[in-house]
Amino acid sequence: MSLAFADTVTTKTAPMPARVRAISQSELPPLVTAIDEGHYPADFMRAIGAAGAYASHTDARPGLDLNPAIAAMGEVSEVCGSSGFMTWCQDTLVWYVANTANDELKERLLATTASGDQLGGTGLSNPMKSFFGIEKLKLKGRRVEGGYVVRGALPWVSNLGEDHVFGTVFEREDGEKVMFIADCADPAIELLPCDPFLAMDGTGTYGIHFKDTFVPDSLVLAHEAMPFIKKIRAGFVLLQMGMAIGLTRDCIAQMKRVRPSLGHVNKFLVTQQPEQFEEALEALTAEVNDLAAQPYETSASFWRRVVQARLDAGDLTMAAAHASMLHAGARGYLKSSPVQRRMREAYFVGIVTPATKQLRKMLAEMN
Ligand SMILES: Cc1cc2nc3c(=O)[nH]c(=O)nc-3n(C[C@H](O)[C@H](O)[C@H](O)COP(=O)(O)OP(=O)(O)OC[C@H]3O[C@@H](n4cnc5c(N)ncnc54)[C@H](O)[C@@H]3O)c2cc1C
Repeated sequence: MSLAFADTVTTKTAPMPARVRAISQSELPPLVTAIDEGHYPADFMRAIGAAGAYASHTDARPGLDLNPAIAAMGEVSEVCGSSGFMTWCQDTLVWYVANTANDELKERLLATTASGDQLGGTGLSNPMKSFFGIEKLKLKGRRVEGGYVVRGALPWVSNLGEDHVFGTVFEREDGEKVMFIADCADPAIELLPCDPFLAMDGTGTYGIHFKDTFVPDSLVLAHEAMPFIKKIRAGFVLLQMGMAIGLTRDCIAQMKRVRPSLGHVNKFLVTQQPEQFEEALEALTAEVNDLAAQPYETSASFWRRVVQARLDAGDLTMAAAHASMLHAGARGYLKSSPVQRRMREAYFVGIVTPATKQLRKMLAEMN
């Protein structure tokens, strides 16, 4: 983080999301193009960590409110979807550690992940898809003295680097699932660069190869992963809402920005006016505020609302980004335009696990 910014921070006593907003608005704009093209913004991720972005959901007890974390992620995503996604990766890592019953692991990682000193993410896409019958678990483990030996590969895990950590799941020979923290510094864990993406290239995303990796019991989040996942799944999904809310807010702003010069013709986009997206965003935000204030609720009806809200969030983000392209016209089609970057980022909200198609499958099966 630049010294110039540190000097101008007058918001130390401001609420956490406002502090994150101040950093995002000053530090991210000069970086967004480089991030879009593959620069991993480790300093920025640490700077918002120092401002408390990942620390508001460490007290894993009933009554915990995920709204501040979501609001902070919204502030980041309003400027940069890649950084907003990495904020979610880090938040989710903290969420796992905060909820484990493994006190040794908590002692080792909770404070440092919550402060952003230890960066990392989550490899739960494959497990989340496997639990809903979409694909098989890719990591296999067997019990050995003091831990497990794990092998297999995950195609994409983000917010990683050589000294980062992430939470994921393997399956034992007897079918039991175990959730654990993988340490990228372990030589038996290989980080493989991915082919370039359409967007999100600066997200520190790697393919991960576990080469008979020893996972000590001290890194196990839950020896029985399924009850643990039931406990953390609503938070996992709800935390993603910050990406949708921030991105949609900027798409609305982009539509309004071109109104002075193009409003006379853009008004014929009658079903895609910024005010309509504002209304939809307000309704979504109200639902998210309510759900995120009770992340430990486990009733079937609550889970259904979470899944529906997540689906609505992806749909709204993609629709707002699409409309923003139509409003901006040729200027939005320029490679230098933020509008086309927002559109590419918005699709990620629809494809990141739980993807739109998975959410629709889940809702269909609930019926
Ligand atoms: C930029 C980026 C970052 C991501 N970060 C994370 C992360 O941090 N953590 C995480 O758990 N997941 C991550 N993912 C995965 C993501 O959450 C989704 O699982 C993924 O986008 C596909 O979801 P889907 O439901 O559409 O599955 P589908 O696309 O329908 O199916 C995905 C499956 O198809 C296979 N597959 C298809 N194409 C390829 C390919 N080119 N390489 C390898 N396998 C392939 C794999 O088995 C894969 O699991 C990331 C994906 C992307 C594109």
